[in-house]
Amino acid sequence: MKNKILVTGGAGYIGSHTCIALHEAGYGIVVYDNLSNSSREAINRVSMLIGQPIDFIEGDIRDAELLKKVFNAHHFYGVIHFAGLKAVGESVSKPLMYYNNNVNGTITLLEVMDEHNIKNLIFSSSATVYGDPEILPIDEKSPRSCTNPYGQSKLAVEYILEDIAVSDENWNLICLRYFNPVGAHPSGRIGEDPNDIPNNLMPYISQVAVGKLEKLSIFGHDYPTVDGTGVRDFIHVTDLAQGHVAALNYLKQQTDLQKFSSDRTNAIQKKSVGFLPINLGTGKGTSVLELVNTFSKETGKKIAYQFIDRRAGDIASCYGSADKAKTLLGWHAELSIADMCRDTWRWQSMNPDGYNAKN
Ligand code: NAD
Ligand code: UDP
Repeated sequence: MKNKILVTGGAGYIGSHTCIALHEAGYGIVVYDNLSNSSREAINRVSMLIGQPIDFIEGDIRDAELLKKVFNAHHFYGVIHFAGLKAVGESVSKPLMYYNNNVNGTITLLEVMDEHNIKNLIFSSSATVYGDPEILPIDEKSPRSCTNPYGQSKLAVEYILEDIAVSDENWNLICLRYFNPVGAHPSGRIGEDPNDIPNNLMPYISQVAVGKLEKLSIFGHDYPTVDGTGVRDFIHVTDLAQGHVAALNYLKQQTDLQKFSSDRTNAIQKKSVGFLPINLGTGKGTSVLELVNTFSKETGKKIAYQFIDRRAGDIASCYGSADKAKTLLGWHAELSIADMCRDTWRWQSMNPDGYNAKN
């Protein structure tokens, strides 16, 4: 029988790509999403790509009663928890909305999991929990600090997960800290579909390329980096999706071992995963200008840009060590910056209006 996974936020950008990877890896999936930042069309496209209907429930993670019904109706092996709000700027103007959605929502989910004795979780955290890092590449032991409500909400959930791991050794909690996810499925059928004018670099570049936006503003060119522009660890979303499969396979292996040892008392010491933070990045930094130039080269589209002042709260450089993911999960990112640009462009040019166009 397939191991069934509840995927909260599975209609979103990273969730939709991960659903495909989970299906291909032989996991059963049930998607739970309130569609606050996604659309049914994403679910339809994923169904089309995997060649079968998706078990989809439209619901909010803060709705305990609905969650309980879902947990009663299915026997889940575990949960991959993507659901959350993610716009840094919006979180500054609407902090309560962010804490309520991201922190309260996660607490409700954890309570329902606990009630149903489902204690295997993979949580979407972010490199933002490292704040302005002192040492690069950033490893998982680096100090954590955040300066905006979005980051604080991720950090708060990390602390909660650490505490419940201490309180009860049956919890197995992998906390994946993503660097900068970009790119799209190679089919061009699913990808990132921001609601308004994009805040993030890659969707902004691709909307300039497709003619929806006039020019890119590059925030600062006086950083202490290779060319003065910000440096980030861009990772292809399909590599990221595979990282979730690797994390889940690892969890499965560990929980099978735990079961084996508890079946044979005194045989092997039962050991839970506890709280396990892992970076998902490439280990390499790329500057804003390098990304713009690669995009132009790979797509033949000239990207008009201007330099403006630094964006408040931005840091110069951020890239992570990918060693722990490699050693523990046997996973590493395979796709290049050129792949990320080509796949982003395929999605953007096939769907200039995102999922709204329904083409
Ligand atoms: P996304 O907005 O595309 O997907 C999130 C999904 O969660 C959306 O479909 C949204 O409708 C759903 N959702 C939000 N609140 C919900 C709620 N209360 N109940 C049910 N569903 C809810 O975002 P994404 O880029 O796919 O990010 C997925 C996760 O990864 C988020 O938690 C995000 O904070 C985290 N993350 C994203 C990035 C990034 O750059 N994209 C980087 C680091 C971490
Ligand atoms: N950036 C930019 N113009 C934009 C959006 C982003 O110059 O319109 C820069 C930003 O200053 C940062 C990098 O691109 O150096 C990545 O920004 P993004 O918002 O995509 O990710 P994050 O800041 O969360 O790492």
